[in-house]
Amino acid sequence: MKVLFLYNEVESLGLQYLSSALRHAGHETALLFDPRLFDFFRQEYNSRLMKRLFSFREEILQRAVEFAPDVIGFQILTANHDWCCDYAAELKRRLPGVTIVAGGYHATANSESVLRTGLFDYVLRGEAEDALVEFVNGLKRGELDLAAPNLARLDNDVYIENPLRPYEQELDRYHEPDKELFWNLGPPFTTGHLVEWRRGCPWGCTFCGNNYYRRIYYPDRDDYMYTRSFLRSRSVDHVLAELRHVKATHNPKLLRVNDDDICADEAWLHELAEKMTDAERIPFKCFAIPNNINERTIVDLKRIGCEQIQMGVQSLNPSIRKLIGRPNSDKQIANAIDLAREHGIAMFVDQIFGLPGETEDDCKKLEAFYKQHSPDVVSVYWLDIWAGAEVLDQAVNAGTITQETADTIRAHAEPGDIATERRYHNAFAKPYAARLEVRNHLKPGLARFVNRTGLWRVFTWFGIFRMLRAWWAFTLAGDLSGFPDPRKGYDLSWARFPRFFKYYMRLRITSWFTRKNPIALSRLPALEQVSDALPASSSEALPAPTDAQRVAV
Ligand code: SF4
Repeated sequence: MKVLFLYNEVESLGLQYLSSALRHAGHETALLFDPRLFDFFRQEYNSRLMKRLFSFREEILQRAVEFAPDVIGFQILTANHDWCCDYAAELKRRLPGVTIVAGGYHATANSESVLRTGLFDYVLRGEAEDALVEFVNGLKRGELDLAAPNLARLDNDVYIENPLRPYEQELDRYHEPDKELFWNLGPPFTTGHLVEWRRGCPWGCTFCGNNYYRRIYYPDRDDYMYTRSFLRSRSVDHVLAELRHVKATHNPKLLRVNDDDICADEAWLHELAEKMTDAERIPFKCFAIPNNINERTIVDLKRIGCEQIQMGVQSLNPSIRKLIGRPNSDKQIANAIDLAREHGIAMFVDQIFGLPGETEDDCKKLEAFYKQHSPDVVSVYWLDIWAGAEVLDQAVNAGTITQETADTIRAHAEPGDIATERRYHNAFAKPYAARLEVRNHLKPGLARFVNRTGLWRVFTWFGIFRMLRAWWAFTLAGDLSGFPDPRKGYDLSWARFPRFFKYYMRLRITSWFTRKNPIALSRLPALEQVSDALPASSSEALPAPTDAQRVAV
C-alpha cells in the first residue's frame, strides 16, 4: 500500500516513527510538507497577503494526485486543525477512492468532532505505530478490523470509539525512525538531529497534552498529575548504538533531544553518562524541569554534551504552579538556573502569561526574580488552551475565558488562532512581557537603561523585536557554523522558522520564473525485511544524508 503523510511547519519525529513501522511492514510511504509561509502558528511573521502570494497549496495537491496514494494520514494538532481540514476536503474531491485517516493530539482528544467534519474516514487515537500498521494491513487485505484497538469511526452517524491498546513499554522494539522522510526535503531539516530517548513526562501539567494522554491511558488512576511511573525509556545501549551511528555517518553539529524531561530518570541518565564515549558524544539541547535538576544531574548532562537546557518555569506564583500541576518551589527553580549557569550550560526558561488566576503582583515578582537568578533567555509565551486539556475548565473558573469560548475550543480548534495573546490575555501583563523581551535582545547594561527609562515602549510600538529576530534569523540561516549558539539557540522561532522562510521563499520565487512545481515529494520504498523486533544494531539501516541534503540554505 502507498501511504502519504501531509504535514506542516516543523519536523515530526512521530511521523518518522510511523513511516518506519509501515515500511517494515511492507508498505511504501511518502511525505508532502507545507511550510505555511506567513501562516505560522507562532504568528510573528504572519500576513494574509503574503500567505496567498507564497502559498504552495496547489503544487502540494498536484504532487499528492501524482503519487496516487491508497491512504492519506494527517497528524492533527489543535493549531493545524483547519489546515488539515482544508487539505482533506480537497484531496477527497481529487482522489475519491482514497482512505483518509487522522491521528495526533487533537484527533485523539476530539475524535468525534474530527470525524463529524466528514473529511476523515477514521481516527487512530493515541500512540499509533502498531495501530496504523494493523489498519493499513487490514485495508490491503480488504478486511479492516473495525474492532481494532485505537480505532474511532462513525457508523451511520453513530460515533464508535474502540479502547486504546496499552502504551508500549519496550521502546527498543520500535524501528529506527525514518529521518530521510524529512531529510529528503532539503536543508531546513538537516540542521540539528532530532531524537527521542523516552516517551512521557513525570508531570501532567493541566495545559499540556501529557495530562490528557495520562487521563485516557490510565483512567483508573488518580495520581496522573504527579507520578513518574508513566515514563518509558529506551535502553541506554539502544540509545548509544543510535548515537554511534549518527556520529559516524554524518556527525551533526547539534542534537535535539525531544524528551519532555531529560533528567526524569536520574539512574538512567547516570548510566548513559558512565557508558558514553567520544564516539557517541554530540553537543545537544534538551528540555528539563526544575525538580530534577541537581548537582548530580547537571554534572551528568555536562558529561554527555549538553549545551543548552530549555526549562519550563511558567509562573512564579506557587499557587498557580500547583493549580497547573507544577509542584516545585521557587528555590528549586532558582537552583536549577544557577547550577546550569555555573556549569557552563545555557539556560533558557519558558514563562507563560495569561495563566488562570494570574495577578500583576505575580508579574512584578518575576522581574525581581530573574534579576537575581538570571537565565540566558526568558522565552515569553501566552497561554494556549488546547481542546481536552484540564486548563480549559480552570480558565473558565478563574474568569480567563468564558464558558462559550471553552465550548468552542472543545468542539473544534478556533480557526487558526487559539493563542491567548490577542483574546484572553491579562492586559496588565503586557509591559512585563515586553521588558523580558528587552532583556533577551539587548546587552544587559543597555537593557537595564531601556527598561528603566521606559524606552521599551518604543520597541513594542514599532515591532522592533520582531524585526531584530528576523534579522538574526536570516543571518544565522546563512551560516550553519552559528549553531549551536547557546545565546541564540536553535529551537527559538527567531532561528528555526525563518530558516524555512528563507529556503521556501527562494523556491517559490524561482518557480515563478521556471514554472516548475517546486514541491518535492519525499518518497520511501517498502522494506523487504519484515521484523517485529529492533536489535540495537538495526540503526545501521539509517543512511547518512546525501551532499544535496546537507547543502546550506
Ligand atoms: S513538564 Fe512540560 S511536558 Fe511535562 S506535562 Fe508539564 S508541560 Fe507537559
